[in-house]
Amino acid sequence: KHKHTHDISAGLQSSFGFDQFKGRQEEAIHSLLDGHDTFIIMPTGGGKSLCYQLPAMMLEGSAIIVSPLIALMKNQVDLVRGYSENENVAHFLNSSLNKSQIKTVRDDLTAGKTKLLYVAPETLTKQENIDFFKSIKISFFAVDEAHCISEWGHDFRPEYRRLREMMDMINPDLPVIALTATATPKVQSDIIKNLGLKDPNIYISSFNRKNLYYEIQPKVKLDQTIKSIVRFISQNKGKSGIIYTLNRKTTEELADILNANNIKAVAYHAGLDAKLRASRQDAFLKEDVQVIVATIAFGMGIDKPDIRFVIHYNVPKSIENYYQETGRAGRDGLEGKCILYYSHKDVAKLEHLMRDKPLSEREVGAQLINETLAFVETSVCRRKVLMHYFGEEWHDENCGQCDNCLNPKEKIEAKIEAVQVLKVV
Ligand code: ADP
Ligand code: MG
Ligand code: ZN
Repeated sequence: KHKHTHDISAGLQSSFGFDQFKGRQEEAIHSLLDGHDTFIIMPTGGGKSLCYQLPAMMLEGSAIIVSPLIALMKNQVDLVRGYSENENVAHFLNSSLNKSQIKTVRDDLTAGKTKLLYVAPETLTKQENIDFFKSIKISFFAVDEAHCISEWGHDFRPEYRRLREMMDMINPDLPVIALTATATPKVQSDIIKNLGLKDPNIYISSFNRKNLYYEIQPKVKLDQTIKSIVRFISQNKGKSGIIYTLNRKTTEELADILNANNIKAVAYHAGLDAKLRASRQDAFLKEDVQVIVATIAFGMGIDKPDIRFVIHYNVPKSIENYYQETGRAGRDGLEGKCILYYSHKDVAKLEHLMRDKPLSEREVGAQLINETLAFVETSVCRRKVLMHYFGEEWHDENCGQCDNCLNPKEKIEAKIEAVQVLKVV
C-alpha cells in the first residue's frame, strides 16, 4: 500500500516512547514518507509536530522546519533533544545565534548528525543559507503555523509568502508538509496556493472542543461588566484564567482592579520589556497569580493545560481569533468557560486600529469583524456557528454547552448600529 518501507510504529516507540498514534498522525506520516505534499489541519495540542518529527528521524538527511517565532524555536529544539541521546539531533538557525554557534550548526548538518533544523522564514531569505542548504542533504520541508501565509488567518506574516520561492531555490522536488490549527476553508486554500502544495494529501481533525462552554454578553455599562467579571472570578477561586483586552492600558487597569478585589492578577502586553513579560508569564504558569490580563500578545505556544476560563473583555477581531484564544482554556479536556463581553464601541475601536492600513487589508478586516458580529449576535447554538464557520458538518441543534442552548433568548438588537459602524471603513 505504501511506497516506503519504514516501520513507523517501531519508530514511534523507539524515538518518542509512544505506543499509539493520535488522530490522523499515522496517515499523514505515511503520506510524507511516500513523498507526497501533505497538509495537516489539527487543533492546538493535537500532536502536529510528530507528523514531521518522526519522518525526520527516519529519513536520510535533515528536515528543514519553518517556524514563525524565534522565542518558541529554542523550546521546540529542547523538546526534540529530550527524546534523543544525541544533542545534535535538532538545531535552530536564526538571527539570535552568533558566528561560532552558526558554525557548530552547519558542521553538524554537514556531518549528517542533525535530523531537524528549525529556521525562521528570514533565515531562508539569505542567499548564503540557501547556498549552504544546497550543499547538504535535505529530507523535506515542514512549514509549521502555515496560516501565517494568509491574510485571512489570525497571524499574517508577509515573509511566509516567499517560502515557495526559497524552497524552489534549494530543491523544488522535495516534499512539503504544512501544518496549522487554523480551520477556516479560506485560509486552507490560501495555504495550498501560496505554498504551492502539489496535489497534497489533506488530513483534517474535528475542531469541536466539547469541554468548552461559550457565553456572550453585551457590555452595557463598564462598571457592571467589571463587577460581573470580579464576581465570576471570585466564585472560581483557585482556577487559572486569562482575560483578553484590546488595549495595553486596559490590561494594567483591569489587573489593578482585580488585585484591589483580592484576586491576584498581572498584566501582560508587548509594551513591557522582555524580562517583565517572562516573569509575569512565569507567575501565571506557576500559579503565583490566578489571572493574567493580556493583549493577544499572550498565548501563542503557552502550554498550560488547566486554564479554566478565558474572558474576552473586548470583542476579538475575527471568529478565528476568538476560537484560538478561547481554545487555550481546558486543554486537559476538563472544564473551560469562555465568556465574551461585546459592545459596538469595541467594534469601532477595532475599525480605528485599521485606519492606516491599505484598503485591501481594511476590507479583509471589515469582513472578519462582520462575521464576528454575526456570531456574537446570533441566537443559534454558538458551537454550531463555529463548526459551520470552520467548514465542519454539524447536525446537533442543541450542544447543551453554550448560552444560546442553555438559555434561548431574544436576539440582541443593535444590528443597525453595527452596520453603520462598518460602513465607515
Ligand atoms: P500541536 O503542534 O498540534 O499543537 P504538539 O505537537 O505540540 O501539538 O503535541 C501536543 C502534545 O501531544 C505533546 O506533548 C506531544 O508530545 C503529545 N503527543 C503527540 N503525539 C502523541 C502520541 N502519538 N502519543 C502521545 N502523546 C503524543
Ligand atoms: Mg504546533
Ligand atoms: Zn450550543
